[in-house]
Amino acid sequence: MNDTIQRFLFEHAPVRGEIVHLDATWRAVLARHAYPPAVRTLLGEMMAAAALLTATLKFGGTLIMQIQGSGPVQLLVVECTSDHFMRATAKWADVPATGALHELVGDGKFAITLDPGGGRPGYQGVVALEGATVAAALEQYMLRSEQIETRLWLTATGNCAAGLLLQKLPERGGTDSDAWPRATTLAASLTPQELAAFDARELLRRLYSAEDIRMFKPRAVDFRCACSRARVATMLRMLGREEVESIVAEHGEVEVNCEFCNERYRFEGGEARAVFAGESGAPAQATRH
Ligand SMILES: [Zn+2]
Repeated sequence: MNDTIQRFLFEHAPVRGEIVHLDATWRAVLARHAYPPAVRTLLGEMMAAAALLTATLKFGGTLIMQIQGSGPVQLLVVECTSDHFMRATAKWADVPATGALHELVGDGKFAITLDPGGGRPGYQGVVALEGATVAAALEQYMLRSEQIETRLWLTATGNCAAGLLLQKLPERGGTDSDAWPRATTLAASLTPQELAAFDARELLRRLYSAEDIRMFKPRAVDFRCACSRARVATMLRMLGREEVESIVAEHGEVEVNCEFCNERYRFEGGEARAVFAGESGAPAQATRH
């Protein structure tokens, strides 16, 4: 199956949706770190959710979905650009095999940031860490922050992360007010295995064969890390000349590992010093590497 986001619309009812399948994109994330099963499930569900929300929210830049936990799962980060390039990473310690969201991340912070890039100010929304799943927490968030009734079904295995999103649109002249409960009840009958196994066309055929569904052109999703040597150089400038000099003095070089893609950036003594050449002493801009 391809890595795609499929938008669809109920032709005669105020309901729209998105279906995402991440295969190679998800496997590219899994190939870079050996995630324990519970972390893998959370991270994969967040991958699917981030792709779905990126397709839903109108913005240009990068959507960053991040959970900082105080439980066994310490950090989950998923990024999706508005042209659907994704990357993800996590940090954890002694994770149980399974557990509800709040058990795994403890008293954490769940934030969604829309970063327009280019140093322009972004927007950050805080997702209440309630409900047993990533989907439940995000449904509440969408209702509160976007005032849009949203339902999400998410699943992640070792091969595939997938998701289905439904949104209730404003009623048009009171027609078919039963459509929303009908659409969500049918979607709730879907098993995680079916969601992962069937492509968007087949899922819609199985769920909504009695409805008139309009499918839009599917959009491709792919793994791509935004790291670069230039971004690492910016990060070294943020660390400061003194700190970088002390690392060079101790290790003979500075080595930075990208936590998303494992790419290793090495700056030998002269290269590390060259990062600060021509610096006026003004504080550098904060940038993710
Ligand atoms: Zn990277």
